[in-house]
Amino acid sequence: MAQRILVTGGAGFIGSAVVRYLIGTGVQVLNFDALTYAGNLASLASVSSDPRYSFVQGDICDAEGVRAALDSFKPDLVMHLAAESHVDRSIDGPGAFITTNINGTYNLLQEALRYWRALDETAQAAFRFHHISTDEVFGSLGADGLFREDTPYQPNSPYSASKAASDHLVRAWHHTYGLPTVLSNCSNNYGPFHFPEKLIPLTILNALKGAPLPVYGTGENVRDWLYVEDHAEALVLIATTGKPGESYNVGGGNERRNIDVVRTICAILDEITPDASIGNRERLIHFVADRPGHDARYAIDATKLTTELGWTAKETFETGLRKTVHWYLENQHWWEPLHNRYAGQRLGLAS
Ligand code: NAD
Repeated sequence: MAQRILVTGGAGFIGSAVVRYLIGTGVQVLNFDALTYAGNLASLASVSSDPRYSFVQGDICDAEGVRAALDSFKPDLVMHLAAESHVDRSIDGPGAFITTNINGTYNLLQEALRYWRALDETAQAAFRFHHISTDEVFGSLGADGLFREDTPYQPNSPYSASKAASDHLVRAWHHTYGLPTVLSNCSNNYGPFHFPEKLIPLTILNALKGAPLPVYGTGENVRDWLYVEDHAEALVLIATTGKPGESYNVGGGNERRNIDVVRTICAILDEITPDASIGNRERLIHFVADRPGHDARYAIDATKLTTELGWTAKETFETGLRKTVHWYLENQHWWEPLHNRYAGQRLGLAS
């Protein structure tokens, strides 16, 4: 097992779950994160005083900053999660997605390659550059079928196009320069420390206070949900045991329509924190204009990850969602400042 892991984007939703998990396994972690609006060091409070954890505030587009971090920390492997990640924001402002997701990944690959070339033979053989990506690169499914690793890329949003571009760069740096890369494409994550502009936390927080629950279009869009801590474990397994040049799909096999996700959250909250002044929370649901180009359905075939690397998710959607609702009820200090600043404004209408 690698002993020193550099994680980019470790202050984000998934990155912080990866860092918390890694510190629990006893390895040294350097979190390299620019702290954009989505980065939050409060998500790392449980590990930030651990001597194995360190943090550098840096931008993956800054070659010198990346080089200094690699040369001083000397990682055995790199897990690259830093990105602009919100589809609606990519519709309103694609430039930041091109800069960070494409140019930033290019820059990181160049610096990782320079660093890797200077390692001795044993360290070179053990090194991995793990690029963390999304199933959205595959486009949209109809009623049937699953995304497999060999499904052709067909990204539809500026976000997914920028991630697809970065996946291709990673592939090319392996084939052209021999950099030992691994790639993973995952479905929608949910769980603790999720930024309150995303569907599940936004619905929990609005339903809690009796505010309207906006659902895009008719709510028929299907996503394959994965509990974030299950994803973090899968990522560490892929980074440490995946084969160079390979990609792995990660998914929980939990397909749900958006409207059913929202209804389930209402039912859980009605049960565990009933409020007579709010009543039945389903009545708060209202349908709003759909996201332009909204993909109909994503669903993952994770057979390769399961059979080749031995991964299985621990949470079902029901157990994971219940845990998540409880977490938001118990961690108001974490979400309140973010919810006050960011929740509610409609983004991504392309108007
Ligand atoms: P996030 O938006 O919560 O976090 C992104 C982190 O990257 C933040 O801490 C931010 O400060 C940092 N960052 C952004 N630009 C940076 C830059 N230029 N330099 C350094 N740091 C920068 O994202 P997330 O949901 O945790 O997603 C992490 C990764 O996983 C992304 O690459 C995303 O594409 C991928 N992914 C996400 C999901 C999901 O459901 N959230 C699913 C599959 C894949």
